[in-house]
Amino acid sequence: MNDPRRYVVIGGGLAGLASAVWLAEAGKQVTLLERRGRLGGRTHALEVPTLRDVPDNGQHVIASGYDHLFRYLESVGTRRFVKFPNEGVLRWPDGRHTTMGTKGLQALRTLFGAHPDASPANRIRAAVATLRMGWECLNQPADLADISTEQWFQRLGMPATAREALWDWLALGIAAEPVRQESAKVFADVMATGIRLGIKHRRPATIGYPTVDLDTLFVTGAREVFQRYGVRVAHRAVARRILIEEGAVTGVLMADGDVVPADAVVCAVPNSNIGGLLDLLPEHDEIYSAADKLGYTPIVSTNLYLDRPLGTKSEFEALIGGQGVIDEVFDRQRMHGRSTEHGWLYCLTTSGAYEQIHKPHDEVVAEQMALLRRYYPAAREAEVLHAQVVPMPRATFSQVVGTAGLRPAQRTSVPTLVLAGDWTSTDWSATMESAAQSAARAVELLLKLPAAPVPSTA
Ligand SMILES: Cc1cc2nc3c(=O)[nH]c(=O)nc-3n(C[C@H](O)[C@H](O)[C@H](O)COP(=O)(O)OP(=O)(O)OC[C@H]3O[C@@H](n4cnc5c(N)ncnc54)[C@H](O)[C@@H]3O)c2cc1C
Repeated sequence: MNDPRRYVVIGGGLAGLASAVWLAEAGKQVTLLERRGRLGGRTHALEVPTLRDVPDNGQHVIASGYDHLFRYLESVGTRRFVKFPNEGVLRWPDGRHTTMGTKGLQALRTLFGAHPDASPANRIRAAVATLRMGWECLNQPADLADISTEQWFQRLGMPATAREALWDWLALGIAAEPVRQESAKVFADVMATGIRLGIKHRRPATIGYPTVDLDTLFVTGAREVFQRYGVRVAHRAVARRILIEEGAVTGVLMADGDVVPADAVVCAVPNSNIGGLLDLLPEHDEIYSAADKLGYTPIVSTNLYLDRPLGTKSEFEALIGGQGVIDEVFDRQRMHGRSTEHGWLYCLTTSGAYEQIHKPHDEVVAEQMALLRRYYPAAREAEVLHAQVVPMPRATFSQVVGTAGLRPAQRTSVPTLVLAGDWTSTDWSATMESAAQSAARAVELLLKLPAAPVPSTA
């Protein structure tokens, strides 16, 4: 029987795109409302018109356990654009570097401390602490939600060398917060997810990357799906309030006063934009309060076009011993096989960028070049041909101590209204996989609704 329901998805980021694609695949009538003039939300390509180039708003890496994201990529036909290299590089300011393996013995060596200064005794201590950490991820002590990841590492006896060469920056990468303020429980939960998926897939989690820009990866294929299934996409369509009458969704009130009729809604906006939309939902106060308490963490991305190659050894390299924030260098030549006609493009990501976020762009570029000069001899004479700084003050919701357990479920008290978005409750931290998993859960709830009566045409 045909489903006469009108499904409306609010928000055209990954969670909204995946929801709309999967509802359309299930044969539903779908309208997607996006307040901006483009789709993709926080994952999108950014044009540099003078160079006719499209670097991304920020480098996005992909873990091998991103099962829901891969399902989305299969749906939009771009799964082939994700690559998993066998190794990455850790680099120190004195030019030393070491390889992080993701397979076999080399993976174990990385896990137990790949620091060049680690003594054999040090490595044994790291191995013991790592095994204890794995055990505590799966059997969590009751106080993990009350302590920072740094306090947990100290309690586990994790040696400084192993923290520097792996755990501190991995924790920062997972929750985009410095370990001294990140919630140990958030980190442990994601690690537990990684361990379970590793057991399920019979291989350890590894880190991969897109070989194309983010629009090609996420948006182009989605548009093709929308065209195939007749999904209506409204750009510059700002939703104000979801209308609910007698326990069921009836429509979406737009900022211009129009009402988009709806029988079911996926609300896939970030915590920063949820205010007002759920006013008619009985539990809105609780959700708004959680959205506020989760807060935000800043990321600054810098796309640097240089006049020469840096001499990287791998597609992405982590710079160790930086300023207490993650600094990662992504070599887009190696990753995308791009031409160097406009220079060599390196994308730098600074997570937990509480200081950088307020700095003028010129200062950020100067600082990033100074950083590269400390780590790469070839950068000392390099000139910047073009630079693009992308500050994202609200890059993701924050996962500091005290935020565990705040994220709302996809299910609400109104069966025809579901929530999605990376900040809703999932097995992951603020990631693309969290966005995709939230969409899978939201769509599943809607697809389980009892059949709606088909209006009579007589
Ligand atoms: C710089 C940076 C680097 C990152 N790196 C990684 C990484 O390496 N790996 C990883 O897994 N994740 C990474 N992330 C996180 C990842 O990008 C996000 O978790 C994910 O994209 C969130 O998707 P979403 O759909 O939940 O939210 P969004 O992408 O924010 O989508 C929400 C959409 O809703 C729209 N919207 C909001 N309000 C309204 C309204 N009232 N009406 C209509 N539309 C509305 C917005 O315009 C937006 O398009 C990174 C994020 C940033 C910013």
